[in-house]
Amino acid sequence: MSSKFLLPFVIYHLISTVGLTIHPIDNLCLNGQISMDASDIETASLDFGGMTKTKPLAVSYPTSADDIVSLVKAAYNSPQGFMVSARGHGHSINGQAQIANGVVIEMSGGSKGNKLRKDKQNLALPQISMHGNSSYVDVWGGELWIDVLDWTLQYGLAPKSWTDYLYLSVGGTLSNAGISGQAFNYGPQISNVHELDVVTGKGELITCSKNKNSELFHGVLGGLGQFGIITRARIALEQAPNKVRWIRVLYNNFSTFTKDQEYLISLHGKPTSERFDYVEGFVIVDEGLVNNWRSSFFSPKNPVKISSLNTTGGVLYCLEITKNYDESTANTIDQEVEALLKKLDFIPSSVFTTDLPYVDFLDRVHKAELKLRSKGLWDVPHPWLNLFVPKSRIADFDKGVFKGILGNKTSGPILIYPMNKNKWDSQNSVVTPDEDVFYLVALLRSALDSGEETQTLQYLRNQNRQILKFCDESGIKFKQYLPHYKSQKEWKGHFGDKWELFLKRKLQFDPKHILATGQHIFQPSF
Ligand code: FAD
Repeated sequence: MSSKFLLPFVIYHLISTVGLTIHPIDNLCLNGQISMDASDIETASLDFGGMTKTKPLAVSYPTSADDIVSLVKAAYNSPQGFMVSARGHGHSINGQAQIANGVVIEMSGGSKGNKLRKDKQNLALPQISMHGNSSYVDVWGGELWIDVLDWTLQYGLAPKSWTDYLYLSVGGTLSNAGISGQAFNYGPQISNVHELDVVTGKGELITCSKNKNSELFHGVLGGLGQFGIITRARIALEQAPNKVRWIRVLYNNFSTFTKDQEYLISLHGKPTSERFDYVEGFVIVDEGLVNNWRSSFFSPKNPVKISSLNTTGGVLYCLEITKNYDESTANTIDQEVEALLKKLDFIPSSVFTTDLPYVDFLDRVHKAELKLRSKGLWDVPHPWLNLFVPKSRIADFDKGVFKGILGNKTSGPILIYPMNKNKWDSQNSVVTPDEDVFYLVALLRSALDSGEETQTLQYLRNQNRQILKFCDESGIKFKQYLPHYKSQKEWKGHFGDKWELFLKRKLQFDPKHILATGQHIFQPSF
């Protein structure tokens, strides 16, 4: 007998499995595919972090928002209920989309992703709308950003704000923030969304925006999946450039590096000719990392003789900037870049430049992924730690962590770049430090069984703990990005002043605590 069942049967099974009383499912109008296939359960029990594994009871492959409504309603209305968790592309680190005793909804199709995306069935295709200078696209919440890009480029358009990696789902990044080097200018992805359709924890499908059901809209953006499942997002677009000039320059002095980064992000809102389009940076603690998976940019044509550069404490900092251009601006790009670079104080001999198509720049991490996959180095544990550090304490962080705790081996890229808080809407759920400028510090490390102690999962996890302890003891008021806490006390500390609002929204939109329990913020109330 096939292991694919219609939803009523599975709900019956769930009810018997978790020992619940039988639910009047005959009255429910349920569609969509539900699976209890071992391979589907296995996929849904894993994530990119590779450190936690939780098997759901079943997996749902929705073909429309109505399928999700039916499932959540069934969970909400049954006397004892069961839990439901949306899973985008499973790129969380700490099991945030996982669930025991419940159903995982594969928003991007899970292992059947490509097929599902090709079939699309009832899932509406992206819809582009253009009104004068402003345009937007409506997309399914499980759509991957790479597919959104492919689609919008057909109209010469593209979203304004990105993540570094595009094989993430729209709903997954909007549940966090979605950041990359464009955030200083446009804000995170959650600042570039006009409207959402959301299935709440009561199974209601609600359209929301800043002006309509605004409490739900703001709650969901950066809301860690706690208030509803995003089934449609309306994303702001801009004219897509054709090409990108991608530049890297090196610093051996941290304060000069951050002064320049902060100067560059202060140019937000200026005409495009007077600012860069993307500002990021990374830390080079050991020479091996000059060509790590995020920075294979330094080609043999552009050799970096790190040892010839005078480093303090053996640490170098790389500023990474880009400028977009197309045919109409190709003749001015050299002058514009030169004028901007003149204002910076990097090591003069350390300018590395490459020109490439816009799509190739946006999709750069995928190329690195393919290389790592071919060496068996992608599906390994990833004890990543992402922190927002206030500008006033970033120098202390440098001293204590980059030049201290990390030693001279890091096991992965370390990104560092500042953002402007005024580009973040304070009504959204995500929390950031209480300063006008704060830095993302992303320690993107991979644990390997190479026999070297510094590469083991245990060693890297321990180092993460040391970093958090150092920040606490030094009074650095950081916030975790893509946060991971296990107790409500810690979550209260994380949300700070916003906790009461977070709690109120939870009571309003998911009173039975059915959704996204893998975040460990609320215990199910049944
Ligand atoms: P999942 O891991 O599947 O889900 C994450 C959370 O969101 C879960 O709690 C889940 O229940 C919830 N959720 C998922 N879909 C929905 C939905 N439709 N509605 C409501 N809730 C939902 N982040 C950045 O900001 N910038 C980056 O540059 C960046 N680069 C990355 C590169 C890599 C290689 C990886 C692995 C991650 C990166 N991330 C980055 C982090 C990424 O944004 C988050 O891990 C995000 O949650 C992943 O999206 P996902 O679709 O895989 O979500």
